[in-house]
Formats: sequence, C-alpha cells, structure tokens
Amino acid sequence: MIPVCEPWLTGNELKYVTDCLKSNWISSQGKYIERFERGFASYCGCLYGVTTTSGTTALHLALATLGIGKGDEVIIPTFTNVATAFAVVYTGAKPVLVDCESETYNIDAYKIREKITKETKAIIPVHLYGHPCQMDRILELAMKNSLYVIEDAAEAHGAEYKGHKCGSFSHISCFSFYGNKIITSGEGGMIITDSERFAERARGLKDLAHSPGRRFVHTDIAFNYRMTNICAAIGLAQLEKIDELVEMRRANARIYNNQLEGTQGITLPTEKPWAKNVYWMYGILVDGDKQKFMKHLAANGVQTREFFVPMHQQPCFKGMFDGEEYLVADDISKRGLYLPSGSGLKIDEIKYICSCIKEALHEEGSSRIR
Ligand SMILES: *Cc1c(COP(=O)(O)O)cnc(C)c1O
Repeated sequence: MIPVCEPWLTGNELKYVTDCLKSNWISSQGKYIERFERGFASYCGCLYGVTTTSGTTALHLALATLGIGKGDEVIIPTFTNVATAFAVVYTGAKPVLVDCESETYNIDAYKIREKITKETKAIIPVHLYGHPCQMDRILELAMKNSLYVIEDAAEAHGAEYKGHKCGSFSHISCFSFYGNKIITSGEGGMIITDSERFAERARGLKDLAHSPGRRFVHTDIAFNYRMTNICAAIGLAQLEKIDELVEMRRANARIYNNQLEGTQGITLPTEKPWAKNVYWMYGILVDGDKQKFMKHLAANGVQTREFFVPMHQQPCFKGMFDGEEYLVADDISKRGLYLPSGSGLKIDEIKYICSCIKEALHEEGSSRIR
C-alpha cells in the first residue's frame, strides 16, 4: 500500500532525542524547546514562538491569549479541519461560517464582510492543503473593522503569499506538528507572533498561569499545553530540513501535474500567481462516483483520503448552523479527495498512482456508456 502520508525522519531526530534521554531533560524544560521556538518563528519571519501540545491547543491558546470568549463571534471557513471550529467553541465564543473559493478551497474573502457583526472579534483564515489565503483582502477587512486575525497555518509550513511566509501576517498564527504535517514533532503545535505582550501572555496561559512573583498562585484559569523537550528535539531536527521537505512536496506536485494535466473527469489543485503552494496534500476533485474511484485505487494499493466534511454538516454542531447554505464547500467536500502526498514518495510511485487514476476514470467512463 502506498500511504497518503508518512513522516520523513532522516536528520538529527534520533541524535537529539537520545540527547534528551541521556541528559534527563524529558519534560517541558530543556534546550530544544527554546531552540525550536526561536528557529521556527524566525523561519516564518516572526519574533516569538510558543510551543504547545498540538495544533488544536495552539488555536485555543491563541484565542484565549486575545481574550476571546463568551458572547464573541469568530469567523472561520466552513471547509476546514474541525480543530479550527472546536478551538472557538472551547472559549465559549460562537464560530461563524463562511463558504470557500472553488479553486483554492480557502475561505472566500469576498463573503466575509456580510458575516461581520458587532460581536465579531476575529477572523481565522485557514491555508488549506498548503495554498495560502487571499491575505490582503482579509487583513484590510480586519483593519477596517478592528478585528484580530489568527492564521491557521497547520497545513502551510513554508507556503508564501506574495513572497511572505504564511503565519507572518497575523496578530497570532498557529501551526500543527502532527505526524502528517510538513514538519512534525510527533504531536505538537506552536503559535507565533510579533507581539511580545501576546507571547508572554501565551507562555503564562499554556503553563497554568503561575504568578510571576509567587509560584502556585494563579492569576487566570489556564491550561497545561506544554510541549515536551523530546517533541521539540524532533521538531528542531525537522526544522533543519524544512526547505528540503517543502521542496519534496512541491516536486511531488509537479510530477502529479505533469502526469495528470488534461485528464478528463478530475480537477487538479491550483497555484495562484501570487502564491507558493506547498501541497501539504495533493487534492483532486472527481466528477464521477468518488467512492468507486477510491475503491479502485485502494484495490491497486493506493491509499486516498476524502476531503474534510464542512462544519455546517457536522453532527457535533447540530442545530448551530440551521438554514445556512454553503454550496461551494458542499460541492468540494463531496468531490474531493487527496492522493499520497508524503515527502518520501518516489517518482515511480507517483507515475504508478497516476496510471491507476486513468484506469479508474476509464472504467468509470465505459461503465457510464454501457
Ligand atoms: C492538523 C490541523 C489542525 C490540528 O492540529 P493537531 O495538531 O492535529 O491538533 C488544525 N487545523 C488544521 C487546518 C489542520 O490541518
């Protein structure tokens, strides 16, 4: 089976983890935390990094740091990983949904304005599958309406909007280092920011908010979202190879594009002229029977995954978005799936996958004629 994604641990991961174990620094203090935070923030063009236990907790921490809570509204795309919506709900605020664009699958920047109310506090654009959102438009709207912007860049390590890294545009940006993300720490996350005040507040909130003067006196209701030194050691080793890992993703996409260009019955992912897409996952839309298509690939040893199910369709949010319509998200979610996209994919594997795709489409076509 060719898996959709596998981590690529070929650098200093083992050496750094061994160092943690041998030196006894295995919990959330130790040199790798700081090195990973500083290194990753600086890679993104930001001043401060604060590690967390996951992308989900990074999002929650970002919202808590900005003081968002009950009575507030936060604008998110309906088409996203559920973590974006969960983080908003954890704070007591209400997620307000916006439909997505048909080409990039990202939040439709032109449909945000109609969702802004006097309760709106923030917008969370999500750079889906590695393609950046239209940040200019989003930042302008946020500025005009005094809203915070929190990028969910969990899928967009190294992606660029108009030559600047995703994660560098917002008050706070959030990353995930889950095993299938472009760089991983096993489980883990980070927020990055240029604001010293936000960074300090986030550091407090992620570690139970001990008072500066007196440990075990707590100034806020806070969290334990501390990353371990061991995870940071893996993250740092991955960070040392990030340019290579991003380039491998982009090289995979080039081969897929070459092989599949012009194929009837599927739509390939896009890269806008102003964007550097890092193709976290190489997603396609299928015109015909998606389940049959996926079964055909699976029978030939090719693993695929369906796209996210939009938030307005989620059973856990039943009743929250009644009567709302998000037609682009419905369509993309229904037709979308992603192909194997890991950094370690080989050219021959991609060529094989593409031949299976053509075969599946051919079968589908001939069965329709019959
Ligand atoms: C993976 C992901 C998350 C959550 O990250 P975890 O580390 O799995 O908690 C959040 N948002 C998006 C867009 C993601 O892809």
